[in-house]
Amino acid sequence: AQLLLSVLVRRYGSVGQRLVLTQDVTERQRNEAMRRDFVANVSHEIRTPLTVLAGFVETMATLPLGPDDRERMLQLMTQQTRRMQTLVTDLLTLARLEGSPQPAPDDWHPVADLIEQIGVETQGLSRGRHLIRLPETGDADLAGVELAGNLSELLSAMTNLASNAVRYTPDEGRISIGWQLRPGGGAVFEVKDSGIGIARDHLPRLTERFYRIDGSRSRETGGTGLGLSIVKHVVQRHGAELTIDSQIGEGSTFRILFPASRVRVHRAVAEAAQA
Ligand code: ADP
Repeated sequence: AQLLLSVLVRRYGSVGQRLVLTQDVTERQRNEAMRRDFVANVSHEIRTPLTVLAGFVETMATLPLGPDDRERMLQLMTQQTRRMQTLVTDLLTLARLEGSPQPAPDDWHPVADLIEQIGVETQGLSRGRHLIRLPETGDADLAGVELAGNLSELLSAMTNLASNAVRYTPDEGRISIGWQLRPGGGAVFEVKDSGIGIARDHLPRLTERFYRIDGSRSRETGGTGLGLSIVKHVVQRHGAELTIDSQIGEGSTFRILFPASRVRVHRAVAEAAQA
């Protein structure tokens, strides 16, 4: 066996090594291509609003404008400036998520408070255009339940899903935000909408940076194309799992499945709420 092995090593060893090296180079080339794509995407996303802004500044500086035109231009300039601010905020959030250690598992937050805050932000975004359902206060799955992790990360992931539901659901549509304890431990945060839905082909790529199905709809509603990559990072960092179910024209359901280690129930509080 020893002899056979040494013959094989002599005969195929170099091939084997070269294969490993090729994989390494391919991996490096892929990373490099991804980095270049990312820089190109960021530049493009920033250049578009900058070009619009520069055009308006020049117009305002060179043309005599009536008060209505001035007002309209200032509104559009504010819109473009906000767009760049959101983009930079999302980019910084992503960079921080990628560069910092995982959030401590002993930092506990009442789930009822999280849901309430997400509800307020979602209602604000919808401005009464959608029917939004939230868990009842006093719901047994909420009373005394706490979730472990980084508060701003958790809020950012959950509000991103809720804000997408509003942005990709036509007016009068239904959105429901849910929270359930799982029988075997752990819990599920769920956002369900009756919106435009997502074709199956897109699902695997949805959490990639700047991946959008309809770029103009995303931008018109204030999207940066980074929301779901932020969600993906937060979910991974909390040992959770993201699932997406969707039907074109019927709607989508996004779920975050939290492991048992990150969910705890204060029995006394839960029992008092039920009494
Ligand atoms: P964006 O800022 O473009 O919304 P996201 O990363 O949050 O970026 O989402 C990526 C893409 O996934 C969106 O552009 C949209 O096409 C699709 N998407 C996300 N959420 C939903 C949803 N609830 N319903 C339909 N499409 C969605």
